[in-house]
Amino acid sequence: MMEKLQSYVAGRWLEGEGEGRLVRHAVTGAPLYEVTSQGLDMAAMVAWAKQGGKSLAAMSFHQRAHMLKTLASHLAEHKEEFYALSAATGATRKDGWIDIEGGFATLFTYSSLVRRELSDERILLEDDWIPLSRRGGFGARHMLTPKPGVAVHINAFNFPVWGMLEKLAPTLLAGMPAIVKPATDGAQLTQAVVKCALASGLLPEGALQIICGGVNDLFDQLGPQDVVTFTGSAHTGQQLRATARFNRCSIPFTMEADSVNSAILVEGADDATQALFVREVVREMTTKAGQKCTAIRRAFVPRALLPGVQDALLAKLGKVVLGDPAREGVTMGPLASQRQLADVRDKVEQLASQARILCGGHQQPFAVDAEAPEAGAFYPPTLLRCDQPKESPLVHQTEAFGPVCTLLPYDSEEELLALVALGEGSLVASVVFNAGQNVSALVAQLGAWHGRLHLLDPVSAEESTGHGSPLPHLVHGGPGRAGGGEEMGGLRAVKHYMQRTAVQSSPGAMTQLSHSWTTGAPVVEDRVHPFRKYFEELAVGERLLTARRTVTEADIVNFGCLSGDHFYAHMDKIAAAESLFGERVAHGYFVVSAAAGLFVDAAPGPVIANYGMEGLRFIEPVKIGDTIQVELTCKQKTRKPRRTPDDLPQGVVVWDIKVKNQRDQLVASYDILTLVQAKE
Ligand code: NDP
Repeated sequence: MMEKLQSYVAGRWLEGEGEGRLVRHAVTGAPLYEVTSQGLDMAAMVAWAKQGGKSLAAMSFHQRAHMLKTLASHLAEHKEEFYALSAATGATRKDGWIDIEGGFATLFTYSSLVRRELSDERILLEDDWIPLSRRGGFGARHMLTPKPGVAVHINAFNFPVWGMLEKLAPTLLAGMPAIVKPATDGAQLTQAVVKCALASGLLPEGALQIICGGVNDLFDQLGPQDVVTFTGSAHTGQQLRATARFNRCSIPFTMEADSVNSAILVEGADDATQALFVREVVREMTTKAGQKCTAIRRAFVPRALLPGVQDALLAKLGKVVLGDPAREGVTMGPLASQRQLADVRDKVEQLASQARILCGGHQQPFAVDAEAPEAGAFYPPTLLRCDQPKESPLVHQTEAFGPVCTLLPYDSEEELLALVALGEGSLVASVVFNAGQNVSALVAQLGAWHGRLHLLDPVSAEESTGHGSPLPHLVHGGPGRAGGGEEMGGLRAVKHYMQRTAVQSSPGAMTQLSHSWTTGAPVVEDRVHPFRKYFEELAVGERLLTARRTVTEADIVNFGCLSGDHFYAHMDKIAAAESLFGERVAHGYFVVSAAAGLFVDAAPGPVIANYGMEGLRFIEPVKIGDTIQVELTCKQKTRKPRRTPDDLPQGVVVWDIKVKNQRDQLVASYDILTLVQAKE
């Protein structure tokens, strides 16, 4: 009997009932497994996830980030198992690398992003304190807390690993559990990664479940704290978005669907730039056999340059070796399934009604380097050309999800913009231009139609990650046809799984909530200088009020000579008198240096190093004869994890610095960052 792929349901691996959908090997056509989720208990999955969500929410951001990093390392140790399964989806080793190792890289990147950019807290406070009152006793910040629900991720067949992990990383980091539902084609690979992740024991029970098969009545079990994301066809996405329960419970539905992405060769492109354009288009057509949501489907070329570009494209595409990726020299594998093959054939026929096929297509026989080419889902690289793009809506609206692209001439920038807009919104466009050429006006106009713009000139080309690579730091999504969603984009993605709440309070209450001292909150003073205290001994809100210092002309002259900064406002009495200040003023950097002289405790102690300064503002000038004084307040403490047992235990302490003059006016304010030794 054919193997049925199991789902992980409320802590158990279970098979669905009845006959499933048969999945075949993309290269050989051999039957692999069946997929069905019939009879699986979706309500139990949701309840189990919510239980698991409590453990995730109880972890801090840094704990979740460490969990993710360890998980990525664990999965990477098993990568060859995943490559073996990836081959059955028709992927070449390079295609598999993008999916598998690209997925793990996304976990690593998200982990370090969170450890670097977020405090080790359970909730996230956004924005600086927003004062809302005259005396400073009332203000606000925005707070983000994990949603106590479950994130349901419905994924496409083309990236069984990356597609899951790019959504899972921000979900888990936010403190939310996930139920993933891979596409039936390729589900075995996703399931193997989930199995490996669960077997590692690194995730809390309930944090991750998988449905192999349909979602049954899952949507009926969801409520106002849940989130649904979808990647796939616009048809399915639009249908799911209309689910009445999503509407009734305001369940966020993020969609990433068909996208007829463009590559644009800018007018006046020289030979080297044309070569870049050709390289990018061919790469996008052939990587993953063009089964990429970001692949270039429309290649716009100035009419005069079209013949040359067309010849170069045809020459390069002629060198592609289509076949079994396991065979030496094969550069492009088959499509993922016979279903996809049928879909691509159908879409190419639609395109061919408004464009002419220059190479490929299925009307002619084509070479395939495989044992049993008739059984595999092979489709050749297919380039079309449409000479009347304005009158040909199908070329702008048809996503043939395979190695298919249409060449389109344009006569002016205005016409180009109108043609691009006929795509009704895309994930990405590449703009390819000569070194030094200014394309800013074009880029500004393209922005509204795209989630990402890849500006390719000979300088960026040397190090570019390419048109087709969505990166964890950058937004992946797009308007209109592309689904209107937004994934990744650094911490933005984490925030999609959290609720943002405006919190209005006194500075003291905000300090308690944020564990970060807020201006105006109570302070404590101690006879012991804060620089003599170990990390554990310092309290947030601990304040040092320093001695005073009167600034003299000698100070300014000495500082000017020492630093070499003889700017007229400090050193030229006549020019300074005519300046905004009306007289000579101290250098801002002198004020900062003098402030350090006032608050530093000079003897060796637990403060290891001062490693930076943030938010420096000079507010009032300091004139000769003014007297300054510093308030140094312990603002925030973050313990640093020890990388090796030999590392000195330590933490980062952020100090709020306020320098005031004799009239109690703020003259400078900033934060300084120090490393402070911990006792253990
Ligand atoms: P589908 O939209 O059919 O499927 C996408 C995901 O949705 C799959 O996991 C699928 O599961 C699931 N799904 C389908 N119907 C339902 C439903 N009623 N309820 C819940 N989940 C559902 O897309 P395919 O993956 O089959 O690809 C078809 C076409 O979509 C491609 O040829 C391509 O044109 C486009 N596509 C676009 C992508 C993009 O990002 N631009 C990415 C991938 C595909 P199951 O597989 O079990 O049916």
